[in-house]
Amino acid sequence: MKKLSDIGTIKEILTKYGFSFSKSLGQNFLVNPSVCPKMAEMGGAEKGVGVIEIGPGIGVLTYELAKRANKVVAIELDKRLIPVLNETLEEFDNVKIINADVLKTDLHKLIEEEFQGLDVIVCANLPYYITSPVIMKLLEEKLPIKSITVMVQKEAADRLCADLGTRQTGAVTVAVNYYAKAEMLFKVSSGSFMPQPKVDSAVIKLDVYSKPAVETYSEEMLFKVIKAAFAQRRKTLLNTLSNSMQYSKSDISEVLNNAKISQNARAEQLKLEDFAAIANELSKLEK
Ligand code: SAM
Repeated sequence: MKKLSDIGTIKEILTKYGFSFSKSLGQNFLVNPSVCPKMAEMGGAEKGVGVIEIGPGIGVLTYELAKRANKVVAIELDKRLIPVLNETLEEFDNVKIINADVLKTDLHKLIEEEFQGLDVIVCANLPYYITSPVIMKLLEEKLPIKSITVMVQKEAADRLCADLGTRQTGAVTVAVNYYAKAEMLFKVSSGSFMPQPKVDSAVIKLDVYSKPAVETYSEEMLFKVIKAAFAQRRKTLLNTLSNSMQYSKSDISEVLNNAKISQNARAEQLKLEDFAAIANELSKLEK
């Protein structure tokens, strides 16, 4: 078979199947042959590993993952791509394609049924319209996975990998830091895709901790605080927490004092431990 990642081969396959790209499904396919092998290697696809891929498209990354790992399960929502994938990946007997929406898929069940005895990783060029929901699903469901290596928009990558306490952070940065260590792997220019998107992309890796980075009385309270704190990121925590969480200003002032956080602090200045300290103080108030 011709090399799958060659733009000529990709165009030939798309024409053969009369495929037209769906913008609403975030379909920008990789046509730069150097990206997928690098992603598969750096993502940790190797012997003894089972890979979950989200959105295989026509299978350019799936191909590189299947060459290296014991097994790949790829979840693709667009049913028009299933016959294409059956052809492009026909030489492998360690690939399973599931026609489903990743956000509605029971991944605990999938891992139990498909990856017995293997270390599990996620490796994917994500559909960008669901970047945060997918990453949060993978982390919040506390799946038995070692790492998540994903291509996302460059801006999203910067936010996900930002150091806490800097201006680039958002609620998602803090949430990711709770579950994993985030690392920027490499940048990918918009010219590496067909059709070419307006923005550049980057591949990031989240090494998932075996237990969260900080301990709290209530995870639910911690995430409420993170969400409320970033809802109005330019305001002080004193204002934004009392507005969004329906506590009095004097309660929040006392909570900040007990948590040893300045009354003028803003969300983007806090470390994960600070959010945990605030959440713990608020949990005490609820009792
Ligand atoms: N992996 C391919 C590549 O790198 O060329 C395609 C990546 S493309 C950015 C995203 C893929 O995700 C598309 O194939 C799209 O159909 C699929 N997709 C979109 N929404 C999805 C969802 N909710 N669940 C699973 N796949 C989805």
